[in-house]
Amino acid sequence: MKLFELTSHQIHELLSEKKLSSVELTQALLERVQAVDGNVQGYVTVTGEAALKQAQAVDEKIARGEKIGPLAGIPMAIKDNICTDGIKTTCSSKILAEFVPPYNATVMHKLYNAGGILLGKTNMDEFAMGSSTENSAFFTTRNPWDLERVPGGSSGGSAAVVAADEAIWSLGSDTGGSIRQPAAYCGVVGLKPTYGRVSRYGLIAYASSLDQIGPLTKDVTDCALVLNAISGRDPKDSTSVDIQVPDYTQALVNDVKGLKIGVPQEYFVAGMDEEVRLAVMQAVNLLVQLGAVADEVSLPHTDYAMPAYYVIAPAEASSNLARYDGVSYGYRGEGDDIVAMYKRTRSEGFGEEVKRRIMLGTYALSSGYYDAYYLKALKVRTLIKQDYDRAFEQFDVLITPTAPSPAFKIGEKSADPIELYLQDVCTIPINLAGIPAISIPCGHTQAGLPIGLQIIGKAFSEETLLRVAYAFEQNTNFRLKPALKGV
Ligand code: GLN
Repeated sequence: MKLFELTSHQIHELLSEKKLSSVELTQALLERVQAVDGNVQGYVTVTGEAALKQAQAVDEKIARGEKIGPLAGIPMAIKDNICTDGIKTTCSSKILAEFVPPYNATVMHKLYNAGGILLGKTNMDEFAMGSSTENSAFFTTRNPWDLERVPGGSSGGSAAVVAADEAIWSLGSDTGGSIRQPAAYCGVVGLKPTYGRVSRYGLIAYASSLDQIGPLTKDVTDCALVLNAISGRDPKDSTSVDIQVPDYTQALVNDVKGLKIGVPQEYFVAGMDEEVRLAVMQAVNLLVQLGAVADEVSLPHTDYAMPAYYVIAPAEASSNLARYDGVSYGYRGEGDDIVAMYKRTRSEGFGEEVKRRIMLGTYALSSGYYDAYYLKALKVRTLIKQDYDRAFEQFDVLITPTAPSPAFKIGEKSADPIELYLQDVCTIPINLAGIPAISIPCGHTQAGLPIGLQIIGKAFSEETLLRVAYAFEQNTNFRLKPALKGV
């Protein structure tokens, strides 16, 4: 096995036993990036020199006989909407193309303290608005399983670099599916934690009541390790919750006996890919063979999740993105007076989709329409949450596909935004309810594309999700390699 193919937990042993150095590993990853990123285009910025320095510091620590944590010395990739002190953080937008944050996001602070090696920042849909990375102002990332297809989005770069072995693991953010859907398309593990589990301080806001940072990893064990490192209350984010962070690796037990699984009928939407449906049903059957019990459940308000999301998310975005006005930082387009300057800055700095959402959101919040759209959408949000509350009275987890189809071709859905929005039908309701969900590989289509299985749990039940995901992983072998690995 090549060094870049290893998982964090495998690497940690090698580093601790001094069978491998972090510099050697980081070098191997940088060479891998050099070899394949021209094809994949997952990175916006590669921080090679700094990475090698960080690696050297970890090696020195090991040489001194100090104990290192599980993520120390291991190269990671970070979505480009997470602030990194002194390193460009662009949100894949022209308006922030030259933005260098003067501070670290709380997750970065924690990861640096844990000895993590930052390899680079990954491409995304501009301001995390999209499902394919086609909305990046810079370039479209490609799916390592088939370079003509999208990697999903908006954390497409983060998923693709893990799938292509250009990073050992990565962070993404998820507002309506942006960690889970690209994880499904690229055949990796992706977790959206409970709202409040992970600090959002330093995550450039899209829709603040929905955004959450989470890991993309090669396997479930690594997912638990990264969640351990980033979770917890942060005084700098008042929405982060003061609930004890367990050691999530303790949940990695290969046992689902007696587990109650609900299969929501409404998630098997019309038009769903037949291969996806079959793979998910087979996965449920396997868990039943392993001792779980499964039954159908109804979440009757599911149909309204998409329209409610496309009022709430743009409404919050229109307010969050008001700060990009060409004054304090970011791109500035000159004009004769201040209004002309604002207009020029925002017309030239934002891409089409971002402008569409700002307009939708501003409209939904404007007086006279607020009650009809925004307030109504909030009421729908409550109904959706109540659907889950009821389901979790009966079931421990719910299982659905992560996305209705495997990765689609680049350009295939660009003509109609609604077609693209529909890729998130299975993931959006989870964000509206604030609950956690994980996507894990559960098979491949005949054409060889990965399929993702989504496991949903009640608030702060990440341990249950990890246990089910781990048991499934231990009893299957869906971690095939993308053809690209031959490069
Ligand atoms: N695709 C959805 C959107 O465009 C979700 C994106 C996300 O989770 N950041 O809003």
